[in-house]
Amino acid sequence: MSTVAHLINGEITLRSGRTAQVFNPSIGEPVRQVELADRATIQAAIDSAKAAFPAWRNTPPAKRAQVMFRFKVLLEANKDKIAAMISEEHGKTLEDAVGELQRGIENVEYACGAPELLKGEFNRNAGPNIDSWSDHQPLGVVAGITPFNFPAMVPLWMYPLAIVCGNCFILKPSERDPSSTLFIAQLLCEAGLPNGVLSVINGDKEAVDALIEAPEVKAISFVGSTPIAEYIYTEANRRGKRVQALGGAKNHAVVLPDADIDNTVNALMGAAYGSCGERCMAISVVVAVGDQVADTLVAKLTPKIQALKIGAGTSCGLDMGPLVTGAARDKVKGYVDAGVAQGATLVVDGRGLVVPGNEAGFFLGGSLFDHVTTEMSIYQEEIFGPVLCIVRVGSLEEAMQLINDHEYGNGTCIFTRDGEAARLFCDEIEVGMVGVNVPLPVPVAYHSFGGWKRSLFGDLHAYGPDGVRFYTKRKTITQRWPQRASHEAAQFAFPSNG
Ligand code: NAD
Repeated sequence: MSTVAHLINGEITLRSGRTAQVFNPSIGEPVRQVELADRATIQAAIDSAKAAFPAWRNTPPAKRAQVMFRFKVLLEANKDKIAAMISEEHGKTLEDAVGELQRGIENVEYACGAPELLKGEFNRNAGPNIDSWSDHQPLGVVAGITPFNFPAMVPLWMYPLAIVCGNCFILKPSERDPSSTLFIAQLLCEAGLPNGVLSVINGDKEAVDALIEAPEVKAISFVGSTPIAEYIYTEANRRGKRVQALGGAKNHAVVLPDADIDNTVNALMGAAYGSCGERCMAISVVVAVGDQVADTLVAKLTPKIQALKIGAGTSCGLDMGPLVTGAARDKVKGYVDAGVAQGATLVVDGRGLVVPGNEAGFFLGGSLFDHVTTEMSIYQEEIFGPVLCIVRVGSLEEAMQLINDHEYGNGTCIFTRDGEAARLFCDEIEVGMVGVNVPLPVPVAYHSFGGWKRSLFGDLHAYGPDGVRFYTKRKTITQRWPQRASHEAAQFAFPSNG
């Protein structure tokens, strides 16, 4: 069985000897293993990043961007190969894997604008014969820790931008589906990135803790579950690092009585069951305003959920693949059991699904609950699987209160034809990313991505303009060149333009 290794100083290398199994969830069997880095491996990556930083910091932004232009071309040329790698280890469908890669490539395109993004600000005559400007300088060695559910896209949220800003980056991807992430990093090396500017270290908590504790690592971007996000934010912050830690979610879709119901149902199907519900922006709760809306949604969603085409992600034309691991499948199944025990109405039960030819795969069918209430665990907790819950309320205000009271605030959306209601919703909902008739309002690469409340720890969102701010520190320079002949007296009052 082959072993997925690390990328350090431009070389693929194995070091620690400690490994974990990587599964193909569609067949339920391990297909390779991945090495789990020890502290010495992390230190080797840090040393190579530190060595590469002075030259990379001083490389003109336009030259850094040229590497990204070549990277984009290589990503596009290898699209199908990457999608197959994602699908084999994650389980998502090939079409979904291509979609994730495309959204990642859009972040590379944004990073190609480095000379414009890093231009800074200039003021002539900020005072008499005094000029002032702000410069955005790189932080040094920075790290990213990423989740299993977007092995291509989420790393691409981070390192293209960090690198064009002049930093050296150490990526610790998910140990559950590491192959596509490593291959993509190799493409960046092939595009001409100097050795040491990007390292990929596979590993688990030991690798993460070594990155948190290393004084050379100046900033950490994290995407994953809320308990780990909070842990990394607290521990790294305590050591003086800059941190953005994006966590879990419970995304609500509000459906008003005037919504275009057929389009809403189709939008909900994709947003709830796409990628088997393993998206941080997946819709997992529908808040139906009025019983008539709820009854219609149940009637229209039920046959569509029962007709979901489910099978090995690597086959074409499917709606859904398996869950990522056996443990993930069992956890989701446990939530369905809990929903039944706590009194919700299980309208569609996905627990018994068997995929012929893939009997050992980690599959679950789509499930639908109606009459879900706020004290149930299926409402409160992130299920991260193909389970949709319907909560019935009497008004838009009640729906909004529900969402604002929830501990998570990643994404939400509203389906309506009423502009006034939509505007109120956008204004007052306490969630970071909001859709109006858009079920997955994932911001495009030139905005920034992030939730509120316990969906994000830190101040700045991921990628886009916030990403540039996160990966640079501002330096403001005030300069004057006194005339040789002039004689200037000492000034004891605070200098001002007054
Ligand atoms: P996870 O938190 O288990 O793992 C994320 C990363 O943290 C991995 O690299 C993992 O190796 C590492 N890690 C795991 N346990 C650790 C520990 N005890 N100490 C230190 N590091 C540890 O998340 P996951 O299961 O890979 O991904 C799914 C979660 O990620 C969901 O909660 C989902 O909502 C969230 N997610 C959030 C966003 C977002 O933008 N907010 C995007 C994608 C996924």
